Amino acid sequence: MTVVTRFAPSPTGYLHVGGARTALYSWLYAKNKGGDFVLRIEDTDIERSTKEAKDAILEGMRWLGLEWQQGPFYQTERFDRYKELIQQLLDEGKAYKCFMPAEELDAIREEQKARGEKPRYPGTWRDRTDHPADQPFVIRFKNPLTGTVVINDHIRGKIEISNEELDDLIIQRSDGAPTYNFCVVVDDWDMGITHVVRGEDHINNTPRQINIASALGAPIPEYGHVSMILGDDGKKLSKRHGAVSVMQYRDDGFLPQALLNYLVRLGWSHGDQEIFSVDEMIELFKLEDVSPSASAFNTEKLIWLNQHYIKSLPSNVVAEHCAWHFEQLNIDTSNGPDLSQVIEVQADRVKTLKELAEISQYFYRDFDELDEKAAKKHLRPVAKEPLSLVRDKLDAITDWKPETIQEAINNTAEELEVGMGKVGMPLRVAATGSGNSPSLDVTLNLLEKVKIVQRIDKALIYIANRENS
Ligand code: GLU
Repeated sequence: MTVVTRFAPSPTGYLHVGGARTALYSWLYAKNKGGDFVLRIEDTDIERSTKEAKDAILEGMRWLGLEWQQGPFYQTERFDRYKELIQQLLDEGKAYKCFMPAEELDAIREEQKARGEKPRYPGTWRDRTDHPADQPFVIRFKNPLTGTVVINDHIRGKIEISNEELDDLIIQRSDGAPTYNFCVVVDDWDMGITHVVRGEDHINNTPRQINIASALGAPIPEYGHVSMILGDDGKKLSKRHGAVSVMQYRDDGFLPQALLNYLVRLGWSHGDQEIFSVDEMIELFKLEDVSPSASAFNTEKLIWLNQHYIKSLPSNVVAEHCAWHFEQLNIDTSNGPDLSQVIEVQADRVKTLKELAEISQYFYRDFDELDEKAAKKHLRPVAKEPLSLVRDKLDAITDWKPETIQEAINNTAEELEVGMGKVGMPLRVAATGSGNSPSLDVTLNLLEKVKIVQRIDKALIYIANRENS
């Protein structure tokens, strides 16, 4: 049997971390089994579904690298199929038209609640044949009256629900639209889904869907219901907890590798291992190792993983993701050192790619402003002499490389009998605009000599202006 799993988001909002984790688990399960992963957009709720949300979901899935082998399928394109099967259930007496006006049902529910009972449709039209003409109706599924539905959930173990607790579900609304629970069953069947991995908020739907599948003669998929994610305050993760849209993490400078690693560990473990490449996740992932309890989001850990991946992934891979952040700053990275080299020298100094781009601007464009504190401290009149001398020594270099650059700095300090810092710090501020940068030899080496000389000249003017004011 080929395993086929799916992710079936409703396009009513962006892809949030909870959805992304469910998608990841579903994807990993399929990959682990050498199976297929299906993407299905559940857009039957036309009023709440938007194109923006659909695009945002696809963008999030692509950014995470959760590629799908089939789809994306859209439920709105499958209405004929749902209709056909609803008719089949009607013809077979497994579904029926219910003409109960909404107000009457509301009143019944109120009475049930007043008696302390669970509100449910009492099956009034289940066996009636006196159908009124020209009256609106819904179509209900004839849920079995007796017996139990057993789910051997891969994550939560055995779950049993008595059919007596389930009422006759609406499968077609009065406007003719099929409902969510029905469409899911048809889709899972038609798309050959063998394993449904989804949020625990769907547990209540599962026995109903199993009954509908049985009535249709469809095979029953296996299930794994994933727990929710809580914020660091123990409450259900929501917008209040900051960035919950997957793309917000990209915007904030996280690598998809870090987010995937973070999400896989959020509710799944393999011993006490923390770092997993995607290949390792695929190899080791088991639904049975997913925790049935809720997991708490921990931003600190995500940041730690992000740092880890910025430092340890090949710099060209990090560069691919970082390029986007330079674009956001309107920086053309083709105009300067190879981005991978910049990543190599900066990786140890940042927590996010956004930060990396921000502190690396001087590699790609000149700056008019100097960091005020650093300039005040290091571009003082006493810096004039070392800066002028090192400028000339740098300018005289014919073979521009870290060693010759370092030599120019060392020689300047020696000749003037000053400490290295007295040369290095003014030079650093002049060349990068700030008091923080990787070591000067490699930093300067990534820039062109003429640029460095120009920047030193500008710094000398700054010092001169300071002297005169
Ligand atoms: N469309 C549902 C949702 O977004 C998921 C349905 C399912 O996975 O069965 O919550």
